[in-house]
Amino acid sequence: MRTVIVSGASSGIGHATAERFARSGDYVVNLDIQPPAPGTREGSREGGGHVRWIELDVADWAGVRDAVDRVHAERGRLDVVIANAGISVRHGILDLTEEEARRTLDVNLMGVLALWRHAVPHMLRRGEGVLLATASVNGSRGYPLYADYNASKAGVASLCQTFAVELSPLIRTACVAPGAVLTPMQRAEYTDAMLQEVNERIPARRHALPEEIADVFHFLASPQASFVSGQQFVVDGAETAGATTAF
Ligand code: NAD
Repeated sequence: MRTVIVSGASSGIGHATAERFARSGDYVVNLDIQPPAPGTREGSREGGGHVRWIELDVADWAGVRDAVDRVHAERGRLDVVIANAGISVRHGILDLTEEEARRTLDVNLMGVLALWRHAVPHMLRRGEGVLLATASVNGSRGYPLYADYNASKAGVASLCQTFAVELSPLIRTACVAPGAVLTPMQRAEYTDAMLQEVNERIPARRHALPEEIADVFHFLASPQASFVSGQQFVVDGAETAGATTAF
């Protein structure tokens, strides 16, 4: 049974991803600052897998190290790490405070770095492992009102490249860069009218479901993706595929 860590699995994309892996027989540890979504029980799943929660702030470097070491000590192996926990605050550049910007970078970028960094010794000792993370289309575009968030996600894409180059061939890395996904994060920031406006700008005419991102993670962690490393996978219903100006 593989041991899989997913950060931010109490909600949204992380929750769908943890359930996807557990359904296909993996032992999944959810590292999240908040308890699992209401109605989600810890324990075994149909399909043979298991999900449990450890309370953790991924911005706490030493806390992440201790949690990763503990999971490894208990399970004896660490196969896949999915650094997914993230936050976003919508604000113009002139409204941005130091505290907010540091928190975004601490959670979204340092949180990925800490989780991956502390998983590496365990994976190298075993001779294999897969490091995955949730980036965003925001990491490669200047989406207005998200300066700190955009920068954090560009940083995640960069970590994905460097970890792959330094740690291949034993460890593979990959990021999923979603476009708009209908999760509590989106619902917290947008009214229904704004969500509809976003849908109209996406060629697929809708948001992704969290399960559609989970399926991509499941593929990237599988032997079928054995030659995939160091790359970012955009999953955005063609949002970023086209030109923005019509002639
Ligand atoms: P969400 O708010 O539904 O879930 C985020 C989870 O991360 C929550 O369970 C939250 O408690 C956890 N979390 C937040 N801060 C944490 C911390 N410091 N330590 C541990 N856990 C923490 O959001 P989501 O939409 O599922 O987002 C998941 C990831 O996907 C994020 O990295 C986000 O940036 C990224 N993403 C989301 C979208 C989207 O449209 N929803 C698009 C692109 C990328």
